[in-house]
Amino acid sequence: MSGMNRLTVIAGPTAVGKGTVIRRILETHPEIKLSVSATTRPPRPGEEDGVAYHFLSMQEFDSKIAAGQMLEYAVVHGTNKYGTLREPVEAALAAGQKLILEIDIQGARQVKQAMPEANLIFIAPPSWEDLVSRLSGRGTETAEEQARRLATARQELEAQSEFDHVVINDEVAECALQVVNLIQA
Ligand code: 5GP
Repeated sequence: MSGMNRLTVIAGPTAVGKGTVIRRILETHPEIKLSVSATTRPPRPGEEDGVAYHFLSMQEFDSKIAAGQMLEYAVVHGTNKYGTLREPVEAALAAGQKLILEIDIQGARQVKQAMPEANLIFIAPPSWEDLVSRLSGRGTETAEEQARRLATARQELEAQSEFDHVVINDEVAECALQVVNLIQA
């Protein structure tokens, strides 16, 4: 593995603003790339195959698992599978590419097992109250759905001690800068 870049894994609870932080990093640091995951969930309007995700049928996804082609995968939000294809990640790292995986916590654990040298970064909210108000502020979920998401978020927050670094997303630009410093270190 010598000479290879370390893989960076970014995870954190729902509504913490991971996506915004990562977009900021990609815009300001074109040398850092985001891995394109595979998923069985259908594309949302505007999502392009191979760009947003590699959209696979459940059968295609399962045959990739069976063939050992998934570096990690998990069932997220109940029914759909999400995972990282092993080959493009290994090729990118071998080529010296700095690569981010934005995956859930189950996936982060699997990557750490498969690649102990991977750098696991947890994005945390400034406080529990902040996360609650971000979730309810979106106003897109019913009270029941919010309660379910908060229960998941609480569990996810408990997993932060398993990560190599915890970065608090108080302000997007500052959080992005801290993550970049960890990627470049
Ligand atoms: P969405 O359906 O909103 O695009 O993503 C839902 C969740 O799936 C996100 O919270 C994200 O962290 C997770 N996810 C996306 N890609 C992967 C992946 O390749 N592996 C795993 N384990 N989780 C993923």
